[in-house]
Amino acid sequence: MINYSYPLYRPPAEANNIILQVTHGCSYNHCSFCSMYKSKKFEIKALEEVYQEIDTLAQSYPQAKKVFLADGDALCLETSHLLEILKYLKKSFTKLSRVSVYATAQNLLEKSDSELALLKDNLLNLIYFGIETGNEVLLKKITKGVNAQQIIRSLQKATKAGMKTSTTVILGIGGVAYTKEHIKDTAVLINQTEVTYLSTLQLGLDEDAKRGFFKHFDDFNMLTDTQVLDEQRRFLELLEPKNKVIFRSNHASNALHLAGTFPKDKQRLINEVRQALEIGEAALVPEMFRGF
Ligand code: SF4
Repeated sequence: MINYSYPLYRPPAEANNIILQVTHGCSYNHCSFCSMYKSKKFEIKALEEVYQEIDTLAQSYPQAKKVFLADGDALCLETSHLLEILKYLKKSFTKLSRVSVYATAQNLLEKSDSELALLKDNLLNLIYFGIETGNEVLLKKITKGVNAQQIIRSLQKATKAGMKTSTTVILGIGGVAYTKEHIKDTAVLINQTEVTYLSTLQLGLDEDAKRGFFKHFDDFNMLTDTQVLDEQRRFLELLEPKNKVIFRSNHASNALHLAGTFPKDKQRLINEVRQALEIGEAALVPEMFRGF
C-alpha cells in the first residue's frame, strides 16, 4: 500500500512509470501563477518510509525501468539523501534505466558540478524544469525567485553533468503588455542552453492562483488564442538552438498541438501555426477540453 499525499502531480511523459513521492509539496512554493502545492506544507519524507514504498512497488512492478521522484522540486534534497534513494532504487529495480525529477534553477545552482555528476552516475538522468520566461521583468512579476542568467547557468550545469533536460515555456505569461519582450528574451535564453526537450504551454490561471498573480502583475491582460498563436509563431521563428531539440506543444492547455524536432522541422512548425492563424477557431482545441 502506497501512502501518496494528494494533490500529486507528475509530468505527462511519466504516466506509465513508477511515481515515488520523496517530498511533499514544493520547497519554494512562491511562483505566483502556480497553485499546485499551495495546499501542502513542504516536508521531506523519512527514508525508512521511502524504502518501504520502494519495496512495495518493486514487488508489484519488478520489471519497471523508469521512476519519477515527486513532489514539486525533489532535487532540493541533500545529495547524500538522494543518493541513498537512488542506490535503493537500483538495488530494487534491476532493469532501472532512468530516474527523473522536477527541479528549479535554485536546486541545480545549490549543487556542485561533482554532486550533479554523481547523481547522474546513479541514474538521476532527466530533469523537468519550468523556464516560463526569459524576460527579467516578467521573472520578477511571476516571483520565480531567479533571473535569466541563473536559469541559463542552472541548465548548463545539468547539461554538463550529462543530464537530459525537459523544459517548459508559458505562452501568454507576459499578457498583452509584455508579449514582445517575453518571446524575444525567452528565445534568446533557450538559444544559450542545450535543452533536450522543449515544450510550450498556454497560460491558464485557476481561482487559487489569480489573487497572488495579479498582486504582482496589475497591468496584466490575458492574450486571446490568436495572440497566443502569434507568440508561438514568433517564438519558433527566433529559436536557433545549438543542439537538436525535441519540441512539443501538446499539453492539455494548448489551443494548437504541435510536435517536431529542431532544427529539422522548424519551418514546418511555423507553417502549421500560420495555417491555424488563417483558419481561426476551427483549427483549435475547443476551450472546454483544455486545462492548465
Ligand atoms: S512552478 Fe514549480 S517551483 Fe514554482 S511554486 Fe510551482 S512547483 Fe514550485
